Amino acid sequence: FQLMADLIKLEVFVAPHQAIEPEVAEKLCETHGFSFEREKREKGAGVHKVEEVFEEPEPEEDTPEDKLELRAPIITFMGHVDHGKTSLLDYIREARVAKGEAGGITQHIGAYSVTDNEGRPITFLDTPGHAIFSQMRARGADITDIVVLVVAADDGIMPQTVEAINHAKAAGKTIIVAINKCDREGADPMRAKTQLMEHDLTPTEFGGDTECVEVSAHTGQGMDELIELMGLQAEVLELRANPKANARASIIEASIQAGKGPTASVIVQTGTLKNGTAFICGPFSGKIKSMLDDKGKRIKEAGPGMPVEILGFSELPNVGDELVEMENERAAKKLSDERQSERRQQRLATPAKSRMEDILALAKGGEQKAKLQLILKTDVQGSVGAITGAIDEIESDKVEAKFIHAAAGAITESDILLASSADATVIGFNTKVEGKAVQAAKREGVEIKLYSIVYELIDTVKDAMLGLLEPEL
Ligand code: GDP
Repeated sequence: FQLMADLIKLEVFVAPHQAIEPEVAEKLCETHGFSFEREKREKGAGVHKVEEVFEEPEPEEDTPEDKLELRAPIITFMGHVDHGKTSLLDYIREARVAKGEAGGITQHIGAYSVTDNEGRPITFLDTPGHAIFSQMRARGADITDIVVLVVAADDGIMPQTVEAINHAKAAGKTIIVAINKCDREGADPMRAKTQLMEHDLTPTEFGGDTECVEVSAHTGQGMDELIELMGLQAEVLELRANPKANARASIIEASIQAGKGPTASVIVQTGTLKNGTAFICGPFSGKIKSMLDDKGKRIKEAGPGMPVEILGFSELPNVGDELVEMENERAAKKLSDERQSERRQQRLATPAKSRMEDILALAKGGEQKAKLQLILKTDVQGSVGAITGAIDEIESDKVEAKFIHAAAGAITESDILLASSADATVIGFNTKVEGKAVQAAKREGVEIKLYSIVYELIDTVKDAMLGLLEPEL
């Protein structure tokens, strides 16, 4: 009855067996001197702590030197179509089998590893080409360490060779040149080397710092030397990672396989993946059920630099997404739920990349000159030089225009991906935009500007570069 009376004082009217709201119970306790509030706060703090576990672990920074170990370099082959990228990748893979390194039938898991004569591991991405390279970068998975630029000795430098050079340079990658098809009649490696100099890749034998190797995917000529060079460059780059850190890996391939469910291949960046590791990958969670290496062997652990196929995804992840080890499955699942609901809300908002006009705002803030990154596609080769020349002549204290790629042809998806990864604006002069490029531009938030009058094009760039001087007057 005392309780009933108290409840009435609180203006709560209930029958004797009726349940009361938790808040009312709290108030009731307080009137009798129980400090419910404090307990609640402590409990609240407890809940908060549990919430924190659901956050994705941050990448490790400033790892102590003694914890870092050398890891395999990740190599991507690039170059013009038919210059021999696939043949070279196959040659290296088969040479490994011939050496007896493979434990079983070689599996295509998106990448493979070999060891050079010094015993250093080297990892190759199976999908050659600059489009996938920039696509991965645009998604934040910049995993390639070294680019092998393949140039056919009989063909020399072709338009896609130039594209590849520009994609690799925009990404700041070390480039090794493989001059392929040297077995062919009509092969002219010297001409290829001279052409490379026109693209700021001066071969070491001409006093520059670009390593060039004459090879043949058919006879195997020069292949040992090429592989040794990769090992050496990897040492120069001091590629190291902590195998004991919280694991992170990048998705390089993903597919649904009959009887297996969603499967994905990854390359481990840091830490070590193990059977049973719980993870988050983009909006999806999972737990490693089993792992296969590139030789089709079941493995229990995969450390930095190693490619591995994983079973245990709840859904198919995206190529380029990062898999991050979580403390346990529950935390991974909770974070996945949160991310999925966030995505549903954000679906309509496309992230906008920096636009030409924004360069002004950028430049105003900083001491250094802002870089206006441009990609130019034109109707004919002749316009390329004319337009880049005119824009290079524009003088501005605050902004520097830089062409990361300029060529004749339509605006392609590959151009958009390069623009997205390098935060560049795409300019088209008397050229069209391919359908796939339009979609990619929308998806990636890349700005495309089209012109048919050369002065209009140059004036717009000039305005963007000089307009910023006004506010200071
Ligand atoms: P990709 O498009 O760059 O991947 O080129 P591929 O590897 O598919 O090679 C294109 C063609 O060139 C194929 O017919 C190959 O057999 C051939 N090829 C590749 N490398 C060599 C080589 O070193 N010597 C000769 N003679 N032909 C080659």
